[in-house]
Amino acid sequence: MAPQSKLEDKTQENADLHKDFMLTIADRCDSCGAQAFVWVNGKNGELLFCSHHYNKIMSSATGALAMMDFAVETVDERERLFIYEENRKTGE
Ligand SMILES: [Zn+2]
Repeated sequence: MAPQSKLEDKTQENADLHKDFMLTIADRCDSCGAQAFVWVNGKNGELLFCSHHYNKIMSSATGALAMMDFAVETVDERERLFIYEENRKTGE
């Protein structure tokens, strides 16, 4: 019996432009008020970040450590920025 696993192409699945996102345009970054793409459910509250501010925190060692300590659950929808860019290019 040969363990012949079917190689599924997950690329298309990962690039599903119609997938449901949790965050909406009404969700705003706690730091600057821009549209939020990252939601962090933490030990003592929720935080919303735009791509810029989440990147900023995670790119600093102390910020990333503090975030890992705080976060219980993280929803990262920064891939939507890419989708927006694609839509803009096609004029939608
Ligand atoms: Zn921000």
